[in-house]
Amino acid sequence: MGDQDNRDDFNLTEDTSAKDKETTEDTYEDVCFICRRPESKTGKMFKLPNNITVCNDCMHKTMETVSQFDYQGMLNPADLENLSKNGGFPNIRFVNISDLQGEGGIPNKQKIKKKKKEEQPEPVLNIKDIPAPHKIKASLDDYVVGQEYAKKVISVAVYNHYKRVATGTMDEIEIEKSNMLMIGPTGCGKTYLVKTLAKLLDVPLAIADATSLTEAGYIGDDIESVISKLLAAADNDVEKAERGIVFIDEIDKIAKKKNTTSRDVSGESVQQGMLKLLEGADIEVPVGANSKNAMVPLTTVNTRNILFICGGAFPDLEQIIKERLTKSSAIGFNGELKDKYDNDKNILSKVTVEDIRKFGMIPEFIGRLPIIFTLQGLSEEMMVQILSEPKNAILKQYQKLLELDEVKLEFTEGALQAIAKKAMEKETGARALRSIIEEFMLDIMYEIPKDDNIGKVTITKEYIEGTGGPMIEIRTAYLPVKED
Ligand code: ADP
Repeated sequence: MGDQDNRDDFNLTEDTSAKDKETTEDTYEDVCFICRRPESKTGKMFKLPNNITVCNDCMHKTMETVSQFDYQGMLNPADLENLSKNGGFPNIRFVNISDLQGEGGIPNKQKIKKKKKEEQPEPVLNIKDIPAPHKIKASLDDYVVGQEYAKKVISVAVYNHYKRVATGTMDEIEIEKSNMLMIGPTGCGKTYLVKTLAKLLDVPLAIADATSLTEAGYIGDDIESVISKLLAAADNDVEKAERGIVFIDEIDKIAKKKNTTSRDVSGESVQQGMLKLLEGADIEVPVGANSKNAMVPLTTVNTRNILFICGGAFPDLEQIIKERLTKSSAIGFNGELKDKYDNDKNILSKVTVEDIRKFGMIPEFIGRLPIIFTLQGLSEEMMVQILSEPKNAILKQYQKLLELDEVKLEFTEGALQAIAKKAMEKETGARALRSIIEEFMLDIMYEIPKDDNIGKVTITKEYIEGTGGPMIEIRTAYLPVKED
């Protein structure tokens, strides 16, 4: 019996799924009867009688085992004739799988409910017909406050990158890949900038933390796991993943360890390991899992068109820049005071490749991140803007929530400044804003729905500073006119 004949007996899900209507059965994922993985992990399944489904991998393994089995000469023509007369192999009893399962095959409670496919809205920026850099920046402006320089650099880099990808000019003239290195203090919008960009472009994004990466074979995530993450973010669509963005945060944590005698498995080795990813290589990644093992199928993802953006706070970098600047200016007639740069807030923007190398990044690694730029620490004024101006500003979110209860929410100018001031003290950038607001809004969100008469709440500076309460206004009475 050939493989082909076998397959004809089975019903490939692919053939039928298109015709299937929205039945209850259809909203559940099939699970492989042998390896128990759901359809989203294994791909299309073979459907056998009695509602049994088997994945491609297990089916092939089974077929292979069966075809290697000799049956000790039982399959000669004479035996086969006997077999049909006697109704089976001598001394071999076949188990009917449906007996094990009971009626109806695998019960629904053991299956994973399929996610409904969401209607995909049109992306704001189309990567196939990438808009000019100023348009990309204008879209970023709707969400990210300040960081003008960073937004400009990233817009131009992304424009060049996707133009290169769309036109495939990479092979003719080697246009260098626009991988980027972002330097900026914590909470100033590095991750947020990349997230917003990926959302606007509608490309898959994987965010990885460099601290968890180690050289292959050591405890921690393999470097290639970032590509698995990207593949997962692209719904296992390799082509989509190959146009995606990978953001590696805390990149400063993989600087070369100073004065170590042991092997630097999470520092320099990780940088070495990342070189081929950054440059462009075929990477074999497990589908639907974080590590390669016998049970998961592998696929190949080419990283040539994947945009890599690395970000980090580089804490001691300021000192290195200062040292370089004072050293160079102390020579000759223009000898300057040593502490000239101590109060320079924009010292980070004077960074050079040499400084980053001194920090502990290896030259080959820096060389593969040709676009280096810095982000500023947030000022109090920027914090106030972040609270209220972006399209999805945190205040707008609370206003929307209370609007559902038909209550108006307002913040006085003084309140916004008081919140910003508190956030500045925490020194965690804009991240502190949400926690502060949440703390103050908890009482409001708890009390307001209790009383239907409340029509408007104004958060005041006094409320934030703990010296007063919010201003509550009662709804203008609406008296239904009684008809006689
Ligand atoms: P990091 O620079 O440490 O990666 P994030 O980008 O994660 O910081 O910022 C934390 C949060 O602060 C973001 O989710 C975003 O809501 C807010 N945020 C930070 N910077 C800005 C900014 N410039 N404009 C608007 N929101 C910002």
